[in-house]
Amino acid sequence: MSALVAHVTPGGAIACSTCPRAACFQARIESPAGPEHTRRQANACASHLVEVIQLLRAGARELTGGWLTVLAIDPYALPRLAALGVTDQGFAFYSAPVGAGPATAPPGYRR
Ligand SMILES: [Zn+2]
Repeated sequence: MSALVAHVTPGGAIACSTCPRAACFQARIESPAGPEHTRRQANACASHLVEVIQLLRAGARELTGGWLTVLAIDPYALPRLAALGVTDQGFAFYSAPVGAGPATAPPGYRR
C-alpha cells in the first residue's frame, strides 16, 4: 500500500502520492469484529480515489464484518485538525460492507 499512502507536503497539504494533486478524499476500511479493531486508510485525489478504494478492498477480503467508508476531506486543514486532537477529519458520504461474513457497522456509524 505504500505507493498510494498519502504524505504531508512541505506546504502542509496532504497530496496524493501518485500525482501532485491535493488529496480531497479518504477511503477507510474498518473491521470492529474480532479481538482488535482494524483500520486501514488512504487519502487520494479525485483521479486516484477509485484505485485507492480497489486497493483497500483487495486487502480486506479476509476481514470479517469489514466496512468501507469514503470521506471528503480538506487536505489543508488536516495538520491543524490533528494538532487540535480531532481524529474524525472528514465528511463521510459513502459506506458499504466489505470482506467475508456479516458487516458490523464501524463505531459512530448511524443509518
Ligand atoms: Zn492523485
